[in-house]
Amino acid sequence: MVPIVVDASAGGQVFRTAIGLSALLQKPVEIRHIRQKRPRPGLQAQHLTALKTLQQICNSRVKGLFKESPEVVFFPQKPVSTRLVVNIGTAGSIGLLLQSVFFPSLVSENRLRVIGGTNVPFAPPIEFVQNVLLPELKAMNCRFEVALNCHGFFPKGKGRVSFVSKKTKLPLKSICFTELGTLESIECFSVCASLPREVAERQSKIAEKILQELSTDFVSHVSCKENSFSCGSSIVLLARFSTGRVLSASAIGKKGFPAEEVGKKAAYHLLKKIRAERAVDEHLADQLVPFMALAKGPSTIETAVLSEHTLNNIKVCEQLLGVKFEVSGEKNNSSEIFVEGMGFKEASK
Ligand code: ATP
Repeated sequence: MVPIVVDASAGGQVFRTAIGLSALLQKPVEIRHIRQKRPRPGLQAQHLTALKTLQQICNSRVKGLFKESPEVVFFPQKPVSTRLVVNIGTAGSIGLLLQSVFFPSLVSENRLRVIGGTNVPFAPPIEFVQNVLLPELKAMNCRFEVALNCHGFFPKGKGRVSFVSKKTKLPLKSICFTELGTLESIECFSVCASLPREVAERQSKIAEKILQELSTDFVSHVSCKENSFSCGSSIVLLARFSTGRVLSASAIGKKGFPAEEVGKKAAYHLLKKIRAERAVDEHLADQLVPFMALAKGPSTIETAVLSEHTLNNIKVCEQLLGVKFEVSGEKNNSSEIFVEGMGFKEASK
């Protein structure tokens, strides 16, 4: 079979979605110009480890399987069930690596122990994966479980997460996330590692104070591992709504940035998202796009911000899955995203 050529100059996400869908469809892909516009182009640890993991799940032949590789050709076979230890080796994001692993895991049973970053900049915090993304995917039929064993922060990483997939009943169910409903509660995950517990407490306290104006329950989970493998802090806030939708905002601590500033940043970001009154935020939107394309029938989501990531993911899904999205609104503004999903089933390949 001749590989489908995908241009991944836009970034790592196009690469992850392309190899993930290629693994699921068992269609080879040739991915060119990988992350070409980034300061350090080509495959970095997280992308390379995702590729190696899918290579094992799909017993694939791969060209370009090396650090900083600008081009990859991936020839997947039928996904098989695996038990693997997957070590990213850096603080590369576990949440991002899973974005590739999810797709073949729709049709194979995998048990992975993943080592890397759990709460790192520009990536989904593990609490987002567990509390926002996975519940929505579960509603579509996916059977994925993610358990957190230990947080891992930049630069050391060394966080530990278990991922388990059971075979999904295909096709996936379509979704219609256009209503937000009324706010029911706020949940806060404030964590620190190799730092005094008071760091996590202060992050949570200031967030609670700022969010008081919403007059809703604030449930906080503060945790601290004083002698951990890595050092850092993070706060993830979840706003839970009557429709089941969850909006989230997060912030990560860094040296010279007081705990109060970390808590404030996440709280004001969450307020902004709540006031936008859209059912899906920009991060969840790009991550739902491939599942909407795979599901059977019409799916619609409304998002407050139509991001570059969402547009890129739409493009690669259209190319690999033969679906056509309808997108209203301008980039960086609110948008409604619709697709008639292909109704992927194993037998339909
Ligand atoms: P590159 O370095 O090429 O930009 P990358 O591999 O680091 O690539 P991106 O392509 O930028 O990753 O993809 C980032 C992904 O992380 C997107 O799916 C985005 O929605 C998600 N993401 C970023 N920040 C958050 C957050 N705070 N909460 C949830 N998801 C997030």
